Order: sequence, then structure tokens, then C-alpha cells
Amino acid sequence: MTAKVVPPAERLLHDLGITKPGEIDVEVIACAVGVTVRYRRLGVGDARIVGLGDRAIITVDDRASRVRQRFSVAHELGHWHHHRGRRLICHVAEQQDGAAGCEREADGYAADLLMPRFMLEPLVAGIPMSFGLVYQVASTFGVSAMAAALRLADVHPAAFALVVEEADGRRWFRRSAALNHRWFVRSNPPGMSVTADRCGLPHPNVAFAVPAQRWFLGQGAKDAQAFQTNHVMVCGRTIHVIVVA
Ligand SMILES: [Zn+2]
Repeated sequence: MTAKVVPPAERLLHDLGITKPGEIDVEVIACAVGVTVRYRRLGVGDARIVGLGDRAIITVDDRASRVRQRFSVAHELGHWHHHRGRRLICHVAEQQDGAAGCEREADGYAADLLMPRFMLEPLVAGIPMSFGLVYQVASTFGVSAMAAALRLADVHPAAFALVVEEADGRRWFRRSAALNHRWFVRSNPPGMSVTADRCGLPHPNVAFAVPAQRWFLGQGAKDAQAFQTNHVMVCGRTIHVIVVA
């Protein structure tokens, strides 16, 4: 049997003796790895990190919400762990070669640090995936509902997909770890245009049954059933959660 690899952010929490969500104080954790956090007005992006040797300073935009600031600090600590010595500009980085991968790595570190598996798994055990659970996780761990929803896709044992509609109408999706890996997610299911969704979501916040093939393509999807919930978040984004029955 292969031993489970503990991600570096979770290892750090163990080393610091942090065992409860309320103890995840990002400034204290930063200090433990040689990083000072300060809050200032920033012209570009939400946060940045400047390091020299084994010390660094993270600067976070003081106008951002507290949940965003916490995620930004955790994200920059991800760069400090994984990309020390490299020059990166966060959130402008998609255009740079290889930098998008660094951003994903830093986001992954932030999710592990703020919503560690060893705290989240017991909390969600036996609880069906729903927006109620998303908000419970967001409030318990001091993160945004979007960050909580994405993390639940990693950790929750249910087979589901999140389909997210941005304010500009662009759609993207995230599949849960338990979703049949041979199934593809349709980001634009038949008969569901972006405009129609924006004009009025059917059954907001209430789960309703849909044929799984409306959202998924793949062997067995034709005969399966799913439950769909539509939700508009405070940030203006719409999320559809489609849980396979
Ligand atoms: Zn970054």
C-alpha cells in the first residue's frame, strides 16, 4: 500500500500544531516561514511577494475583503514555498510562459493551507453536496464561497460537477474527484443558453432532478439521473452544481 503524501501546506500546519480552522492565522503562519505581511494600496493585482534570502514581505491590497486577503496571503505563501527566487506577477501571469502553472500551484497550496483535508474531510463526512454545505465550509474556514465550492470538488466524496458562469458570460467547469473519469462535462448543455440563464434561473437554490446526459457525455450517462442546483453568488457569478444520483 502506498502511503498518502501530505501536501506541504498541511505539513506546515502539523509542524505548527494547528488543528482547528479557527487557528489558521495566515499572518502567524507567514511569520513562521520568515514572511512578514503588510496591508497597503496596490495599483496592480491583489497581492505580491518580494523575497531576499530566507526572508520575504507579502503586500496585500488593503481594500480587498478579509476572505480575499487571507486567500491572497496563502497564495503568496504558495509561491514562497514552490517558486522562491522566480520573478512572478500574480494574476497578470496567464500570458507568461509556464506562469499559469505556477499560479495553479500557488492556488493549490492556498486551498491546502486554508481548508486542509484533515479538517475538511471529517466536517463533510455523510453530508450531501449542496450550497448549504458550501456556505458552511466558507464560514468555518474564512474563505469565499467560490473557494469553498472548488475545494469541495477536491475533497467531497460525491460525484458532481460545478459549472461556473462568469459575469462576462464565459463558462468553465470543475469536476469532483469522484466523478466518473470517463464522463465529459458539457459546459453548454442543450437548450440552456447563457442569456436564458441570466434572465431567470429556474428553481434557484433548490435541487431538482435532471437526466444526467443533459450535463454529461459518456458511457452510462444516458441512463443515469442527476440533481441540479442553480445559485447566484454574491460575487455575481452563477454556479450550477450537478450531483450524479
Ligand atoms: Zn500568484
